[in-house]
Amino acid sequence: MNGEIHLRDVKPVLHLTLQSCLHLAVIAAIFLIFLLASCTTVPLTGRSGLSLVPDSQIVTMSYQQYSEVLKKSKLSNNQEKVQMVRRVGGRIAMAAESFLKESGAGADVALYKWEFNLIEDDKVVNAWCMPGGKVAVYTGILPIAKDETGLAVVVGHEVAHAIAKHGNERMSQALLVQLGGIGLSAALSTQAAATQELFLQLYGVGANVGYMLPYSRLHENEADRIGLVLMAKAGYDPRAAVGLWQRMNSQSSGRTLEFLSTHPAPATRVANIEALIPEAMRYYQKPR
Ligand SMILES: [Zn+2]
Repeated sequence: MNGEIHLRDVKPVLHLTLQSCLHLAVIAAIFLIFLLASCTTVPLTGRSGLSLVPDSQIVTMSYQQYSEVLKKSKLSNNQEKVQMVRRVGGRIAMAAESFLKESGAGADVALYKWEFNLIEDDKVVNAWCMPGGKVAVYTGILPIAKDETGLAVVVGHEVAHAIAKHGNERMSQALLVQLGGIGLSAALSTQAAATQELFLQLYGVGANVGYMLPYSRLHENEADRIGLVLMAKAGYDPRAAVGLWQRMNSQSSGRTLEFLSTHPAPATRVANIEALIPEAMRYYQKPR
């Protein structure tokens, strides 16, 4: 045995290993480029969020699901309350659109076909906004909202989830887990059924059953922060958010509030909100 034989034996192995490494590196690079290209920037926080499903596809599913929910639900015919929900919603929606434009995401404005409906169900303490700006408020949350400003806290928070595209990110993360990384791009185009299924898991809100998957802590913090800015821009005093969350917490003792189960928050939420208020106040005091 001498050194030459060793080299001959080793070389092909090295060659193969290098080749496989290169292949893997190329695949990894393509995958990384794909992932980087599939990111969206969250306004205000500047965080890069994963966005693998085309917004147009999500919005189409959202419109279908929203009209299903409306069909199955009893809409409130209390005109005073319905008008309040639409007034708050309209002001938050306008604030959201100008906020998107100011954040350099003006192109997104076209994604939203705002709609605000009040569903008659005093037992359901909930409100949500589907992608594309389709909002439902349940009459059960109105006593906790207490007044128009309290409702603006809730609607601002929900609209914030939508404009930060948290739904797309939750679907994208789930798709990554389901489909695995490599070949995802090709797979996505043929995964309409899987995508639809995921959408229903995230937003499958029936007439009386809210079984929406909960938002993550990160998404909650972002929605709190952006939501306060939206309500402030809409002309509602963001300091009212402290009282709203205190009422929400005290109402939840002894019963389950749908809103709190899909919007989990740390016990320190009220303190976090208090810390975010100075930022929101800058938008409130600005002449509009
Ligand atoms: Zn939330």
